[in-house]
Amino acid sequence: MSEEKLRVLIVDDDPEIRSILLEFLGGSYECLALNSAEEALPMLATQQFDLIMTDIAMARMNGLDLVRHIISEAPNSVIVMISGQRNIEVAIQAMRAGAFDYITKPFELREVAAVTRRALEHRKRIEGDRAPSRFDETSKELLAAIGNQEFVLHYQPQVEIQTGRIVGVEALVRWQHPNRGLLLPGDFIPLAERNGAILQLGESVLRAACTQARRWFDLGLNDFRVAVNVSPQQLQQNHFPETVASLLQEVGLQASKLEVEITENSFMLDGGIGIQTLTELREMGVLISIDDFGTGYSSLSYLKRLPIDSIKLDASFVKDATTDTDDAALVIAIIALAHNLRLRVVAEGIETQEQLNLLRSLRCDEGQGYFFGRPVGEEVITAWAEKGNNREPTILSEAA
Ligand code: C2E
Ligand code: MG
Ligand code: MG
Repeated sequence: MSEEKLRVLIVDDDPEIRSILLEFLGGSYECLALNSAEEALPMLATQQFDLIMTDIAMARMNGLDLVRHIISEAPNSVIVMISGQRNIEVAIQAMRAGAFDYITKPFELREVAAVTRRALEHRKRIEGDRAPSRFDETSKELLAAIGNQEFVLHYQPQVEIQTGRIVGVEALVRWQHPNRGLLLPGDFIPLAERNGAILQLGESVLRAACTQARRWFDLGLNDFRVAVNVSPQQLQQNHFPETVASLLQEVGLQASKLEVEITENSFMLDGGIGIQTLTELREMGVLISIDDFGTGYSSLSYLKRLPIDSIKLDASFVKDATTDTDDAALVIAIIALAHNLRLRVVAEGIETQEQLNLLRSLRCDEGQGYFFGRPVGEEVITAWAEKGNNREPTILSEAA
């Protein structure tokens, strides 16, 4: 592993700078050069780099914003900023954003060599602290586990608040690890996102969920949706809508029985690439939902431009809405805004009768949470469907 070349990503919209750096650093390191932050972000989501060198002034997303994004996603990244300005203010801004060091153009190659060496030494120190072998091992294990079909789906009911009727379920992936037991997504999704395995994992989740939805349809659940969490990286694949279309056809499921959940930040990260994909999915009839709504750092105004059907109000608002008037005010405002845009609102993390009462009085459309039922194995939903599916939703919590 130590013989592998260190990887350097260069982001600069000046082709001359790109080729100078590529030529100079390419002999010692594995280098990749891109000409915009928009191209770099999807790359960074799927691949690891030991050093990222980025221009500060670029069209559309600038280098400072790029650095902030990278640091918020992967705080241990080592970044060197390149700027045309020999100006201390700019250097301070770069460091504040999270850059490790700074070089100004025109630069001498000696200077580039010294900065690169220092940055990579720093990288080695932090990697050493983080015991990288563990990361690599888990990465390998994760990829093998996909092949070994160690991933299972649990399903959590989604309930219509006014009637108490179960209108669908959200599919939540778990890793049935041979030694470590049942692992929750928090233990492996971030890793899968970093090493790219999320694409394969995401596709197998989608296939399993759609296949299951078809079986439930056959058992009489014909007005019933299955929601699947989709990672931003899946959305960035141009062929994603076709993959979904052929899957639906293969298993014989109507598009309207599938809902795709994506997080707010997906759009911010990819600078609009995902929107086209969502539009195509929605034209096919697939429902689109924004997950963890309210936790992202985006403005509300983008909501009206997105091709979506519903928002999922994040559990953190629901948690405190009954006790904190500020949270209650936010919940009221979000529900009103969503309804004005003709979007359905699903509240996440409902745990108590009081929370349910409040959400009902606010005309929230649907809810999900331990109060109605924890995520359960497929067999629990199947048993409920076989018994005529009109029993109390709380029946589903017994297998938690
Ligand atoms: P999410 O999509 O927001 O899913 C809801 C999470 O909240 C689930 O955690 C669920 O078990 C938990 N939850 C539901 N009701 C309650 C409640 O009343 N109280 C509390 N405290 N928690 C509740 P889980 O299963 O650990 O999933 C965590 C996240 O992992 C999901 O958040 C989703 O973002 C991600 N995830 C799950 N499955 C997949 C998948 O197949 N693909 C991708 N890309 N992400 C997934
Ligand atoms: Mg979700
Ligand atoms: Mg959520």
